[in-house]
Amino acid sequence: MTVKELIEKVFFIEIIKGLALTLKQLFSPGVTRQYPKEKREPFPGSRALHALVRDAETGKEKCVGCGLCAAMCPSRCIYIYTSENEDHKKVVDRYEIDVLRCIFCAFCVEACPYGAVALTHHFEYSDYSRDAFYYTKERLLENWDKYMAGPKGKEYFEKFWGPNSEDFGLPMVSQTEDKKNL
Ligand code: SF4
Ligand code: SF4
Repeated sequence: MTVKELIEKVFFIEIIKGLALTLKQLFSPGVTRQYPKEKREPFPGSRALHALVRDAETGKEKCVGCGLCAAMCPSRCIYIYTSENEDHKKVVDRYEIDVLRCIFCAFCVEACPYGAVALTHHFEYSDYSRDAFYYTKERLLENWDKYMAGPKGKEYFEKFWGPNSEDFGLPMVSQTEDKKNL
């Protein structure tokens, strides 16, 4: 044992250091947020309540009823019912999600070839009945209108699901070098 170590042991230096740190923390501002009075913006790409994307041109759902999302869903909580119209085109009659069974893995979003289903940032949707968490096509489209319509939805698909190198916030020098290397 060195002299320094001996002195530290005799005078309980490490314990004093620990106590000083605790004392410092007692007088520093708290980090706990008093939810729901204090809220913060959800992080980009947060996975919360589902939405069906509404096509801005037709005003209808973008979903074509291919069923890929339902096939990928590990919770088996997506139910799709389709039929054929007079032009022999597939029509999505019902698109439903039992949100209480969902594990928010976003496999449905990843699987969809049309960018027709999304997970919004909206996580405050507690309720008193199970029925409230069974989302029909109409309710899912309403979610899109409420939480994702406009630039938010565009950013969600472009920046989060198909990000470019600049979306990762690389320093300007690296971006220039990246372009040179292309
Ligand atoms: S987020 Fe996952 S569990 Fe929820 S509906 Fe989509 S695929 Fe299913
Ligand atoms: S949401 Fe996408 S993957 Fe699911 S049925 Fe519609 S088009 Fe197919």
